[in-house]
Amino acid sequence: MMAEQLAIKGGPKCVTKDPGDIFTWPIITKEDEDAVLEVLRRGGMSGTDVTTQFEREYADWHGAKYALGCSSGTAALQSAMWACGVGVGDEIIGPSLTYWATNLPAFSLQATIVFAEVDPVSLCLDPNDIEHRITKRTKAIIPVHYCGYPADMDPIMEIARKHNVKVIEDVSHAHGGLYKGKVVGTIGDVGAFSVMSGKALAVGEGGVMITDDRYLWEKAIVWGHYGRTRATVWTGELEEQYITAEDLVPYAGLPWGGYKYRMHQLSSACARVQLKYYKSRMEEIQKAMNYFWDLQEDTPGVKAHRPDADTGSTMGGWYAARGRYVAEELDGLDIRVFCKAVTAEGCSTGPGCNSPMHLHPLLQTADIYGHGKPTRIANSDWDVREGDKSLPVTESLPLRIYGIPWFKHYRPEVIEEYANCFKKVAENADQLKDIDPEE
Ligand SMILES: *Cc1c(COP(=O)(O)O)cnc(C)c1O
Repeated sequence: MMAEQLAIKGGPKCVTKDPGDIFTWPIITKEDEDAVLEVLRRGGMSGTDVTTQFEREYADWHGAKYALGCSSGTAALQSAMWACGVGVGDEIIGPSLTYWATNLPAFSLQATIVFAEVDPVSLCLDPNDIEHRITKRTKAIIPVHYCGYPADMDPIMEIARKHNVKVIEDVSHAHGGLYKGKVVGTIGDVGAFSVMSGKALAVGEGGVMITDDRYLWEKAIVWGHYGRTRATVWTGELEEQYITAEDLVPYAGLPWGGYKYRMHQLSSACARVQLKYYKSRMEEIQKAMNYFWDLQEDTPGVKAHRPDADTGSTMGGWYAARGRYVAEELDGLDIRVFCKAVTAEGCSTGPGCNSPMHLHPLLQTADIYGHGKPTRIANSDWDVREGDKSLPVTESLPLRIYGIPWFKHYRPEVIEEYANCFKKVAENADQLKDIDPEE
């Protein structure tokens, strides 16, 4: 296709075909509608009967013992943190390159966040940058399977076990993904998922926590599910301490966190149907996305964000899929110009993903609870804040990654046109020298 005029310079666009429903998500059929209407018509929105069925199916789907449906992924993450013992003055270690809900719920537990570096290839927590950040206050490490790529869990688990620290996987980007053959969310002590409508498993607002540890599951119920404490068959420590002691029975009806995290049953009803079809839909997404990348194998400047095929690891449903940009292979072409030119070819894209969190004023100076000092250090005995250039890989990534189309169907002729946008721009990058990235 070489020496073609780029669309940004007045040439023909690569994308000519109507994409149809190739990007439509979630896929909603009459079965979803009927399931939701059944709950709506009988007024069952605030019950738990559908949610508990969904929990059983979700746990089984993952091969986990327990699941807990929550009102959001944020709620699932905060419940998981508290269940894992995160409290006053404690620290969690997580990536700065993530959606805020991975880490910020620690603040309301009067704990704080220590950010660790991410790996430039996987974009996930770098196992080599964790151990030196562990202190006597560290309670949990929270890897994110970022944009679908499974975090390197083996060394993370090894470090966590050595230091007796819990691992909470944030699986909000990677439902059904595999790490060396194991489903993500089942490797750490807890997996926490968002299932809001933008995610790969998209059911409405909602979240889920899965675990094999009954104590963690019970604690999460105590925290935010007051309506279920009496009906839960308690075991172990919680029962002895708080639940069945005669004089404490009333506490069984109050949420310890003071939060109400019940999952909306219109979401649970939709979730049961979505889960039924998720594996086959995910597999079609994987076929489509892998094809998109295979077409660009030898294209300069652009690199797939996916594990090698022979590792047993996958990208799940390819949520928020990205490519990696290597400006050096394109004579230093600014990624912003590259993205503008690709967009002009008919494939809308832009640089970056989430902005790194560690430099945001909320993590530096904000006093949320009136401590008279920044919340980040309000309960700490040392200043955990990371300054400018402290996480160089994380800070460089907004100009090293870009969005790619999220195909839901394997339709080669459509996918080829989108892949050609990137190839054409990369192979004709010399036409872009005069474009101002700032404009
Ligand atoms: C979406 C998301 C969450 C939060 O989930 P909500 O359901 O929106 O509360 C947490 N972590 C990551 C990485 C996410 O992308």
